Amino acid sequence: MNSRRWQLPSVQSIIEEPAVAKYETKLGRDRITHAIQQVFDRARASEEPSHDGIIAEVCARLDGLCGQELAPVINATGVIVHTNLGRAPLADAAIDAVAEIARGYSNLEYDLDAGERGSRYDRARGAVNDITGAEDSLVVNNCAAAVLLVLDTFAKGREVIVGRNELIEIGGGFRIPEVLERSGARLVEVGTTNRVYVEDFERALSPQTALLLRTHPSNYRIEGFTHGVTAREVVELGRRAGVPVVEDLGSGALVDLAEYGVERERTVQDAVRDGVGLVTFSGDKLLGGPQAGIVAGRANLIARLSNNPLLRALRVDKMTLAALAATLQLYRDCSVRENIPIYRMLTASLDELRGRGESYMRAIPGAEIVESDAYVGGGALPQTSIASIAVAISTNNADALAAKLRAATPPIVARIEQGRVLLDLRAIAPNQDATVVAALSRCDGFTG
Ligand SMILES: *Cc1c(COP(=O)(O)O)cnc(C)c1O
Repeated sequence: MNSRRWQLPSVQSIIEEPAVAKYETKLGRDRITHAIQQVFDRARASEEPSHDGIIAEVCARLDGLCGQELAPVINATGVIVHTNLGRAPLADAAIDAVAEIARGYSNLEYDLDAGERGSRYDRARGAVNDITGAEDSLVVNNCAAAVLLVLDTFAKGREVIVGRNELIEIGGGFRIPEVLERSGARLVEVGTTNRVYVEDFERALSPQTALLLRTHPSNYRIEGFTHGVTAREVVELGRRAGVPVVEDLGSGALVDLAEYGVERERTVQDAVRDGVGLVTFSGDKLLGGPQAGIVAGRANLIARLSNNPLLRALRVDKMTLAALAATLQLYRDCSVRENIPIYRMLTASLDELRGRGESYMRAIPGAEIVESDAYVGGGALPQTSIASIAVAISTNNADALAAKLRAATPPIVARIEQGRVLLDLRAIAPNQDATVVAALSRCDGFTG
């Protein structure tokens, strides 16, 4: 059956190759053996491989494994809500709540008063209503799901009017026109890229109009000769026409960011106060909680969302609800600044950051403290930088040093600017400083 005239080496001999052996501490022997067997399986089906070829292929697989599984990283980019790095770190109270709920049973869908089936959607409802001022609310898997649910419920086969200045793509494949199309709604674009008036919305009204949609221009800004429509204008038009207004806020701040040293960003409460029928926003952006999508607004509209069978496919899980409820409790307790990590990061003073930078300077020859621009991220305030402090390492090969830091345990994701590697301290937790310093010390040859 097997007409091969060549033989593969033993798995053991490959494991002992120094280039392969160095992965053992990180990945463990079983996974290395598995990777070797996969390479052997492929080799059997092809030409005789060279010994070096086998080693190279095994190493490539192991490299892949090292970065593939979900693992903590240190965020030295200066972008606080970094979507690629998992957005908002959770507050301790949220982590504790997740652990407690995950460990055992809960009243997830059980009404303890009545002793019968209850609704998971009641578990965070009171807190969201309380904080946002909305009549009612619903929590789903993420904000994209919230938008999809709203469109599917109200606008399938009908029309949604959107200003051309708000036809956004927020990245990760979320484009308003495409989400509308997938939900079976017809997009009616009005106005121009730079100028949209409420009269444009009004002229586009038809018996087929299901919704008037506003979206937060999360990641861009149109400047110059511009005109937009205020929420109140659209709400007033919607009221006259009997058409609900939906605002996709995305980042969903629940506090005035100006109080945290950043520019003011429209809050969920602003949208509710403006009379918007439904507001959608994320749990893991400026709220500082877990991935979730929240819809807040008028009770009769929320009731229709709750009755949509699609909700079952978008439903939120118990660990998310636990984390969200615990995070929202911090808003009720007015301890956002102290206890929600992204707000601690936002409000760390430059003196504090500089003081931490000095500990890096003392330990790393050639490290300098420089001024840096940090960003909120997560589709909020794209143009607004936050003054920050970074540790800068001059090297003749910044790409290689950055790669070496990404290969550290835990990996450190830094930024390259003008040929230097910059580690912005704002999104690095102070208790991670020692780890970063140690990783940098192991990169000598690049530094100094
Ligand atoms: C981020 C964002 C979304 C998507 O939120 P997810 O929670 O990532 O699904 C939708 N709309 C806007 C305006 C956003 O900024």
